Amino acid sequence: MSSILGTYARKDISFTEGKGSYLYTENGEKYLDFVQGIATNILGHCHEHLVKTIQNQSKKLWHVSNAFIIPEQERLAKRLTDNTFADFVCFQNSGTEATEASIKIARKYFHKIGKPEKNRIITFQGAFHGRTLAALFAANNHKHTEGFGPKVDGFDQVPFGDHEAVKKTINNNTAAIMIETILGEGGIKIVPDFCIKGLREICDEKGILLILDEVQSAYRTGDFFAFEKSGIKPDIVPIAKGIGGGFPLGACLVSKKVSVGMTPGTHGSTFGGNPLAMAVGNAVLDIILEKNFLNNVKKKGEYFDKALDKLKNKYPKVIGEVRGVGLIKGLRMVVDNTEFIKKLMIHKMLTVKAEENVIRLFPPLIVSNQEMDEAISKIEKVCEEMN
Ligand SMILES: *Cc1c(COP(=O)(O)O)cnc(C)c1O
Repeated sequence: MSSILGTYARKDISFTEGKGSYLYTENGEKYLDFVQGIATNILGHCHEHLVKTIQNQSKKLWHVSNAFIIPEQERLAKRLTDNTFADFVCFQNSGTEATEASIKIARKYFHKIGKPEKNRIITFQGAFHGRTLAALFAANNHKHTEGFGPKVDGFDQVPFGDHEAVKKTINNNTAAIMIETILGEGGIKIVPDFCIKGLREICDEKGILLILDEVQSAYRTGDFFAFEKSGIKPDIVPIAKGIGGGFPLGACLVSKKVSVGMTPGTHGSTFGGNPLAMAVGNAVLDIILEKNFLNNVKKKGEYFDKALDKLKNKYPKVIGEVRGVGLIKGLRMVVDNTEFIKKLMIHKMLTVKAEENVIRLFPPLIVSNQEMDEAISKIEKVCEEMN
Protein backbone atom coordinates (compact mmCIF):
# COMPACT_ATOMS: atom_id res chain seq x y z
CA MET A 1 0.00 0.00 0.00
CA SER A 2 1.23 3.47 -0.88
CA SER A 3 2.19 5.85 1.92
CA ILE A 4 1.14 8.81 -0.17
CA LEU A 5 -2.02 10.64 0.85
CA GLY A 6 -4.71 9.47 -1.50
CA THR A 7 -5.47 12.71 -3.34
CA TYR A 8 -4.79 11.34 -6.82
CA ALA A 9 -6.50 8.63 -8.84
CA ARG A 10 -3.25 7.47 -10.34
CA LYS A 11 -2.86 5.30 -13.39
CA ASP A 12 -0.99 2.10 -12.70
CA ILE A 13 2.15 3.04 -14.59
CA SER A 14 5.40 4.88 -13.94
CA PHE A 15 8.23 6.15 -16.07
CA THR A 16 11.95 6.17 -15.61
CA GLU A 17 13.10 8.25 -18.56
CA GLY A 18 11.89 10.85 -20.97
CA LYS A 19 13.24 12.33 -24.17
CA GLY A 20 11.45 14.99 -26.21
CA SER A 21 7.93 13.81 -27.01
CA TYR A 22 8.43 10.35 -25.47
CA LEU A 23 8.37 8.67 -22.07
CA TYR A 24 9.87 5.27 -21.27
CA THR A 25 8.85 2.76 -18.61
CA GLU A 26 11.31 0.69 -16.61
CA ASN A 27 11.06 -2.16 -19.09
CA GLY A 28 11.62 0.13 -22.04
CA GLU A 29 8.06 0.56 -23.27
CA LYS A 30 7.79 3.80 -25.22
CA TYR A 31 4.86 6.21 -24.88
CA LEU A 32 4.04 9.26 -26.97
CA ASP A 33 3.57 11.88 -24.27
CA PHE A 34 0.98 14.54 -25.10
CA VAL A 35 0.41 15.30 -21.43
CA GLN A 36 3.93 16.65 -20.78
CA GLY A 37 3.28 17.06 -17.08
CA ILE A 38 0.05 18.88 -17.93
CA ALA A 39 1.36 21.52 -20.32
CA THR A 40 4.51 21.89 -18.27
CA ASN A 41 7.47 20.33 -20.11
CA ILE A 42 7.02 22.87 -22.84
CA LEU A 43 10.26 21.84 -24.60
CA GLY A 44 9.66 18.13 -24.07
CA HIS A 45 11.52 15.84 -21.70
CA CYS A 46 15.17 16.50 -20.90
CA HIS A 47 15.77 19.19 -23.48
CA GLU A 48 19.51 19.41 -23.96
CA HIS A 49 19.75 23.16 -23.30
CA LEU A 50 17.76 22.82 -20.06
CA VAL A 51 19.80 19.82 -18.92
CA LYS A 52 23.07 21.69 -19.47
CA THR A 53 21.74 24.81 -17.80
CA ILE A 54 20.62 23.02 -14.67
CA GLN A 55 23.87 21.06 -14.49
CA ASN A 56 25.95 24.22 -14.72
CA GLN A 57 23.83 26.26 -12.33
CA SER A 58 23.72 23.44 -9.80
CA LYS A 59 27.49 23.65 -9.51
CA LYS A 60 27.42 27.43 -8.98
CA LEU A 61 24.48 28.36 -6.75
CA TRP A 62 21.10 26.85 -5.92
CA HIS A 63 19.33 29.07 -3.53
CA VAL A 64 19.75 32.41 -1.82
CA SER A 65 17.19 34.48 0.00
CA ASN A 66 15.26 37.20 -1.76
CA ALA A 67 16.88 39.49 0.79
CA PHE A 68 19.75 39.64 -1.71
CA ILE A 69 19.93 40.68 -5.36
CA ILE A 70 19.62 37.62 -7.58
CA PRO A 71 21.12 38.42 -11.00
CA GLU A 72 19.44 35.48 -12.78
CA GLN A 73 16.11 36.77 -11.45
CA GLU A 74 16.81 40.33 -12.61
CA ARG A 75 17.63 38.97 -16.04
CA LEU A 76 14.49 36.82 -16.40
CA ALA A 77 12.27 39.66 -15.16
CA LYS A 78 13.88 42.05 -17.66
CA ARG A 79 13.35 39.63 -20.52
CA LEU A 80 9.74 38.96 -19.53
CA THR A 81 8.95 42.67 -19.32
CA ASP A 82 10.85 43.49 -22.54
CA ASN A 83 8.67 41.00 -24.40
CA THR A 84 5.27 41.71 -22.84
CA PHE A 85 2.86 44.38 -21.58
CA ALA A 86 4.36 44.09 -18.10
CA ASP A 87 6.67 46.48 -16.26
CA PHE A 88 7.36 44.27 -13.23
CA VAL A 89 7.45 40.59 -12.34
CA CYS A 90 7.28 38.74 -9.04
CA PHE A 91 8.35 35.13 -8.98
CA GLN A 92 6.51 32.26 -7.32
CA ASN A 93 6.80 28.48 -7.41
CA SER A 94 3.46 27.48 -8.86
CA GLY A 95 0.36 28.56 -10.70
CA THR A 96 -1.85 28.86 -7.68
CA GLU A 97 0.65 31.14 -5.97
CA ALA A 98 0.79 33.25 -9.10
CA THR A 99 -3.01 33.64 -9.19
CA GLU A 100 -3.09 34.41 -5.47
CA ALA A 101 -0.39 37.04 -5.95
CA SER A 102 -2.57 38.53 -8.71
CA ILE A 103 -5.50 38.82 -6.32
CA LYS A 104 -3.32 40.41 -3.65
CA ILE A 105 -1.80 42.91 -6.09
CA ALA A 106 -5.25 43.96 -7.39
CA ARG A 107 -6.57 44.53 -3.87
CA LYS A 108 -3.46 46.31 -2.70
CA TYR A 109 -3.61 48.66 -5.66
CA PHE A 110 -7.03 49.97 -4.67
CA HIS A 111 -5.99 50.13 -1.05
CA LYS A 112 -3.02 52.22 -2.03
CA ILE A 113 -5.03 54.68 -4.11
CA GLY A 114 -7.51 55.22 -1.30
CA LYS A 115 -10.31 52.92 -2.44
CA PRO A 116 -9.96 49.99 -0.04
CA GLU A 117 -13.63 49.11 -0.51
CA LYS A 118 -12.71 47.86 -3.99
CA ASN A 119 -11.56 44.38 -3.06
CA ARG A 120 -13.87 41.88 -4.81
CA ILE A 121 -12.96 39.92 -7.94
CA ILE A 122 -15.37 38.76 -10.63
CA THR A 123 -14.67 35.23 -11.86
CA PHE A 124 -16.34 32.82 -14.28
CA GLN A 125 -18.09 29.49 -13.96
CA GLY A 126 -15.90 26.65 -15.22
CA ALA A 127 -12.69 28.46 -14.27
CA PHE A 128 -9.66 26.94 -12.60
CA HIS A 129 -7.13 29.08 -10.76
CA GLY A 130 -5.38 26.56 -8.50
CA ARG A 131 -5.85 24.67 -5.24
CA THR A 132 -4.92 27.08 -2.46
CA LEU A 133 -7.92 28.40 -0.54
CA ALA A 134 -8.53 31.73 -2.25
CA ALA A 135 -7.85 30.29 -5.71
CA LEU A 136 -10.25 27.42 -4.95
CA PHE A 137 -13.11 29.71 -3.98
CA ALA A 138 -12.27 32.09 -6.83
CA ALA A 139 -13.07 29.31 -9.29
CA ASN A 140 -15.80 27.96 -6.99
CA ASN A 141 -15.96 24.53 -8.60
CA HIS A 142 -18.10 22.48 -6.23
CA LYS A 143 -16.02 19.34 -6.91
CA HIS A 144 -12.93 21.12 -5.58
CA THR A 145 -14.41 23.24 -2.78
CA GLU A 146 -16.66 20.68 -1.06
CA GLY A 147 -15.61 20.18 2.54
CA PHE A 148 -13.05 22.99 2.46
CA GLY A 149 -15.27 25.71 3.89
CA PRO A 150 -15.69 28.24 5.28
CA LYS A 151 -15.85 29.83 1.88
CA VAL A 152 -13.16 32.41 1.19
CA ASP A 153 -15.08 35.59 0.49
CA GLY A 154 -14.24 38.23 -2.06
CA PHE A 155 -15.31 36.59 -5.31
CA ASP A 156 -18.45 37.08 -7.39
CA GLN A 157 -19.00 34.46 -10.05
CA VAL A 158 -20.87 34.87 -13.33
CA PRO A 159 -21.67 32.43 -16.17
CA PHE A 160 -18.94 32.02 -18.79
CA GLY A 161 -19.50 34.26 -21.81
CA ASP A 162 -22.22 36.40 -20.18
CA HIS A 163 -21.12 40.02 -20.60
CA GLU A 164 -24.45 41.32 -19.33
CA ALA A 165 -23.99 39.40 -16.09
CA VAL A 166 -20.49 40.84 -15.76
CA LYS A 167 -21.82 44.39 -16.16
CA LYS A 168 -24.64 43.78 -13.69
CA THR A 169 -22.33 42.25 -11.10
CA ILE A 170 -19.79 45.08 -11.09
CA ASN A 171 -20.39 47.44 -8.19
CA ASN A 172 -18.44 49.84 -5.99
CA ASN A 173 -16.65 46.95 -4.35
CA THR A 174 -15.34 45.38 -7.55
CA ALA A 175 -11.58 45.51 -7.98
CA ALA A 176 -11.00 43.24 -10.96
CA ILE A 177 -12.23 40.68 -13.45
CA MET A 178 -10.15 37.50 -13.51
CA ILE A 179 -10.42 35.00 -16.37
CA GLU A 180 -8.26 32.40 -18.09
CA THR A 181 -7.62 33.50 -21.68
CA ILE A 182 -8.10 29.85 -22.56
CA LEU A 183 -10.00 27.80 -20.00
CA GLY A 184 -7.70 24.81 -19.55
CA GLU A 185 -9.21 22.49 -16.96
CA GLY A 186 -12.58 23.87 -18.12
CA GLY A 187 -12.14 22.15 -21.51
CA ILE A 188 -9.77 24.23 -23.71
CA LYS A 189 -12.37 26.93 -24.24
CA ILE A 190 -10.89 29.96 -25.95
CA VAL A 191 -12.23 33.30 -24.82
CA PRO A 192 -12.78 34.95 -28.22
CA ASP A 193 -10.80 38.13 -28.99
CA PHE A 194 -13.95 40.26 -29.08
CA CYS A 195 -14.77 39.08 -25.55
CA ILE A 196 -11.29 39.91 -24.28
CA LYS A 197 -11.64 43.34 -25.89
CA GLY A 198 -15.11 43.69 -24.40
CA LEU A 199 -13.81 42.84 -20.94
CA ARG A 200 -11.02 45.39 -21.32
CA GLU A 201 -13.60 48.03 -22.29
CA ILE A 202 -15.80 47.20 -19.31
CA CYS A 203 -12.78 47.38 -17.01
CA ASP A 204 -11.72 50.76 -18.42
CA GLU A 205 -15.23 52.11 -18.20
CA LYS A 206 -15.67 51.03 -14.57
CA GLY A 207 -12.10 51.75 -13.47
CA ILE A 208 -11.32 48.16 -12.51
CA LEU A 209 -8.47 45.78 -13.39
CA LEU A 210 -8.25 42.91 -15.86
CA ILE A 211 -6.40 39.78 -14.70
CA LEU A 212 -5.77 37.21 -17.44
CA ASP A 213 -4.74 33.83 -16.04
CA GLU A 214 -2.25 32.41 -18.55
CA VAL A 215 -0.84 29.72 -16.27
CA GLN A 216 -1.71 27.04 -18.83
CA SER A 217 -1.68 28.99 -22.09
CA ALA A 218 1.50 31.13 -21.93
CA TYR A 219 4.06 30.40 -24.73
CA ARG A 220 1.76 27.72 -26.15
CA THR A 221 -0.49 29.39 -28.69
CA GLY A 222 2.17 30.60 -31.10
CA ASP A 223 2.21 34.02 -29.47
CA PHE A 224 3.98 34.80 -26.23
CA PHE A 225 0.57 34.99 -24.55
CA ALA A 226 -2.83 33.81 -25.76
CA PHE A 227 -4.40 37.26 -25.30
CA GLU A 228 -1.97 39.00 -27.68
CA LYS A 229 -4.11 38.50 -30.79
CA SER A 230 -6.84 40.60 -29.19
CA GLY A 231 -4.49 43.60 -29.16
CA ILE A 232 -5.38 44.64 -25.61
CA LYS A 233 -3.19 45.07 -22.55
CA PRO A 234 -4.22 43.38 -19.31
CA ASP A 235 -3.18 44.73 -15.90
CA ILE A 236 -2.03 41.52 -14.26
CA VAL A 237 -1.07 38.13 -15.75
CA PRO A 238 -0.20 35.07 -13.67
CA ILE A 239 1.89 32.44 -15.48
CA ALA A 240 3.45 29.11 -14.45
CA LYS A 241 3.34 25.56 -15.91
CA GLY A 242 5.31 25.87 -19.17
CA ILE A 243 7.55 28.78 -18.16
CA GLY A 244 9.82 26.49 -16.13
CA GLY A 245 9.90 23.73 -18.75
CA GLY A 246 9.21 21.18 -15.99
CA PHE A 247 10.96 22.97 -13.13
CA PRO A 248 8.53 24.43 -10.56
CA LEU A 249 8.20 28.08 -11.48
CA GLY A 250 5.44 30.64 -11.38
CA ALA A 251 5.35 34.37 -11.92
CA CYS A 252 2.99 37.29 -11.78
CA LEU A 253 3.38 40.02 -14.39
CA VAL A 254 2.05 43.48 -13.66
CA SER A 255 1.86 46.93 -15.20
CA LYS A 256 3.54 49.89 -13.55
CA LYS A 257 0.15 51.35 -12.65
CA VAL A 258 -0.99 48.44 -10.50
CA SER A 259 2.43 47.85 -8.96
CA VAL A 260 2.27 50.87 -6.69
CA GLY A 261 0.91 49.07 -3.63
CA MET A 262 3.54 46.34 -3.64
CA THR A 263 6.24 47.89 -1.50
CA PRO A 264 8.89 46.02 0.55
CA GLY A 265 7.31 43.55 2.93
CA THR A 266 3.91 43.34 1.21
CA HIS A 267 4.59 39.97 -0.45
CA GLY A 268 7.27 37.34 -0.45
CA SER A 269 8.30 33.77 -1.07
CA THR A 270 11.18 31.77 0.31
CA PHE A 271 11.84 29.80 -2.85
CA GLY A 272 10.22 32.01 -5.49
CA GLY A 273 12.79 33.15 -8.02
CA ASN A 274 15.82 31.31 -6.68
CA PRO A 275 18.93 31.03 -8.91
CA LEU A 276 18.27 27.43 -9.94
CA ALA A 277 14.68 28.13 -11.01
CA MET A 278 15.70 31.37 -12.70
CA ALA A 279 18.47 29.69 -14.68
CA VAL A 280 15.94 27.22 -16.06
CA GLY A 281 13.35 29.94 -16.72
CA ASN A 282 15.96 31.86 -18.70
CA ALA A 283 16.98 28.75 -20.60
CA VAL A 284 13.35 28.12 -21.60
CA LEU A 285 13.16 31.71 -22.86
CA ASP A 286 16.41 31.27 -24.84
CA ILE A 287 14.54 28.76 -26.98
CA ILE A 288 11.11 30.41 -27.00
CA LEU A 289 12.61 33.73 -28.14
CA GLU A 290 14.65 32.17 -30.96
CA LYS A 291 13.68 33.73 -34.26
CA ASN A 292 10.66 31.95 -35.76
CA PHE A 293 10.26 29.54 -32.83
CA LEU A 294 6.78 30.76 -31.86
CA ASN A 295 5.86 31.19 -35.51
CA ASN A 296 6.68 27.53 -36.00
CA VAL A 297 4.44 26.67 -33.05
CA LYS A 298 1.64 28.38 -34.93
CA LYS A 299 2.44 26.37 -38.07
CA LYS A 300 2.63 23.10 -36.16
CA GLY A 301 -0.67 23.95 -34.51
CA GLU A 302 -2.28 24.47 -37.90
CA TYR A 303 -0.84 21.21 -39.21
CA PHE A 304 -2.22 19.34 -36.18
CA ASP A 305 -5.57 21.14 -36.51
CA LYS A 306 -6.04 20.02 -40.10
CA ALA A 307 -5.36 16.41 -39.24
CA LEU A 308 -7.58 16.50 -36.14
CA ASP A 309 -10.37 18.13 -38.13
CA LYS A 310 -10.14 15.35 -40.71
CA LEU A 311 -10.54 12.78 -37.93
CA LYS A 312 -13.51 14.66 -36.49
CA ASN A 313 -15.18 14.68 -39.91
CA LYS A 314 -14.45 11.01 -40.47
CA TYR A 315 -15.65 9.96 -36.99
CA PRO A 316 -18.46 12.36 -36.02
CA LYS A 317 -19.86 9.77 -33.61
CA VAL A 318 -16.59 9.79 -31.68
CA ILE A 319 -15.18 13.34 -31.85
CA GLY A 320 -17.58 16.27 -31.52
CA GLU A 321 -15.30 19.25 -31.78
CA VAL A 322 -11.65 20.24 -32.13
CA ARG A 323 -10.74 23.08 -29.78
CA GLY A 324 -7.68 25.20 -29.09
CA VAL A 325 -4.98 27.10 -30.92
CA GLY A 326 -1.27 26.55 -31.47
CA LEU A 327 -0.20 23.54 -29.43
CA ILE A 328 -2.87 23.73 -26.74
CA LYS A 329 -5.57 21.48 -28.11
CA GLY A 330 -8.75 19.84 -26.93
CA LEU A 331 -11.06 17.24 -28.42
CA ARG A 332 -14.62 17.40 -27.16
CA MET A 333 -15.61 13.78 -27.37
CA VAL A 334 -18.99 12.29 -28.20
CA VAL A 335 -17.90 9.02 -26.58
CA ASP A 336 -16.68 8.97 -22.98
CA ASN A 337 -13.38 10.86 -22.69
CA THR A 338 -12.01 8.66 -19.89
CA GLU A 339 -12.67 5.51 -21.89
CA PHE A 340 -10.97 7.03 -24.93
CA ILE A 341 -7.93 8.05 -22.90
CA LYS A 342 -7.62 4.50 -21.51
CA LYS A 343 -7.73 3.02 -25.00
CA LEU A 344 -5.17 5.53 -26.25
CA MET A 345 -2.87 4.35 -23.49
CA ILE A 346 -3.09 0.81 -24.81
CA HIS A 347 -1.81 2.29 -28.08
CA LYS A 348 1.01 3.92 -26.08
CA MET A 349 -0.15 7.49 -26.19
CA LEU A 350 -0.73 9.71 -23.14
CA THR A 351 -3.35 12.45 -22.98
CA VAL A 352 -5.24 14.17 -20.18
CA LYS A 353 -8.91 14.94 -19.67
CA ALA A 354 -10.72 18.18 -18.92
CA GLU A 355 -14.29 19.29 -18.20
CA GLU A 356 -17.00 19.05 -20.88
CA ASN A 357 -15.90 15.55 -21.87
CA VAL A 358 -12.73 16.96 -23.40
CA ILE A 359 -9.37 15.28 -24.01
CA ARG A 360 -6.45 17.69 -23.85
CA LEU A 361 -3.44 17.33 -26.13
CA PHE A 362 -0.25 19.10 -25.05
CA PRO A 363 2.52 18.18 -27.46
CA PRO A 364 5.83 19.75 -26.50
CA LEU A 365 6.57 22.82 -28.63
CA ILE A 366 9.49 20.96 -30.21
CA VAL A 367 7.14 18.25 -31.55
CA SER A 368 7.78 17.19 -35.14
CA ASN A 369 5.16 16.75 -37.85
CA GLN A 370 6.05 13.10 -37.86
CA GLU A 371 5.25 12.81 -34.16
CA MET A 372 1.96 14.56 -34.71
CA ASP A 373 1.24 12.10 -37.56
CA GLU A 374 1.95 9.30 -35.11
CA ALA A 375 -0.49 10.85 -32.63
CA ILE A 376 -3.15 11.12 -35.33
CA SER A 377 -2.67 7.51 -36.32
CA LYS A 378 -3.04 6.35 -32.69
CA ILE A 379 -6.12 8.54 -32.16
CA GLU A 380 -7.58 7.19 -35.40
CA LYS A 381 -7.12 3.61 -34.20
CA VAL A 382 -9.13 4.33 -31.08
CA CYS A 383 -11.76 6.23 -33.11
CA GLU A 384 -12.10 3.10 -35.24
CA GLU A 385 -12.48 0.95 -32.09
CA MET A 386 -15.12 3.19 -30.53
CA ASN A 387 -17.03 4.07 -33.72
C1 LIG B 1 -2.76 24.64 -13.44
C2 LIG B 1 -3.39 25.97 -13.32
C3 LIG B 1 -3.31 26.72 -12.13
C4 LIG B 1 -2.64 26.19 -10.90
O1 LIG B 1 -1.32 25.90 -11.10
P1 LIG B 1 -0.49 24.97 -10.04
O2 LIG B 1 0.92 25.08 -10.50
O3 LIG B 1 -1.06 23.60 -10.13
O4 LIG B 1 -0.73 25.58 -8.71
C5 LIG B 1 -3.87 27.98 -12.13
N1 LIG B 1 -4.50 28.49 -13.21
C6 LIG B 1 -4.60 27.79 -14.36
C7 LIG B 1 -5.26 28.41 -15.54
C8 LIG B 1 -4.08 26.51 -14.45
O5 LIG B 1 -4.20 25.80 -15.58
